[in-house]
Amino acid sequence: MLTPVIDPDGAPFWQYAAQGELRIQACADCGELRFPPRPCCPHCQSFGTTWRKVGGRGRVWSYVVAHPPLLPDYAEQAPYNVVVVELADAPRIRLVGNLVSRPGAPLNSLSPDRVRIGARVQVVFSDDGLPQWVLERP
Ligand code: ZN
Repeated sequence: MLTPVIDPDGAPFWQYAAQGELRIQACADCGELRFPPRPCCPHCQSFGTTWRKVGGRGRVWSYVVAHPPLLPDYAEQAPYNVVVVELADAPRIRLVGNLVSRPGAPLNSLSPDRVRIGARVQVVFSDDGLPQWVLERP
């Protein structure tokens, strides 16, 4: 199992994900969302932070299908997709992840020919609290 590297700024993202919630860091002063998490708001330079719950629906904004040569842990799962998802209720926020057939399914569980730019997707969470994406209409 490949696990995320968690830094102090991003730790709340993973804590909420472990509870099955997708939350995005927001500025406590001006309200702007930002991702990936970082200490300072790029709009107003505030260090105040809150975590806003988002709906978890989005569209595939871009993707790649990975093939070897890859690091050994990844090579055995190839070919698999890596998607960039634009959130429906926060269109400037884009998250990188994998489109899978069902929650907790392996990286290669969805055939690469099922992935399309613009496809509507919904966040799901693996048993390990890893956000993944599934097609709204499989
Ligand atoms: Zn701000």
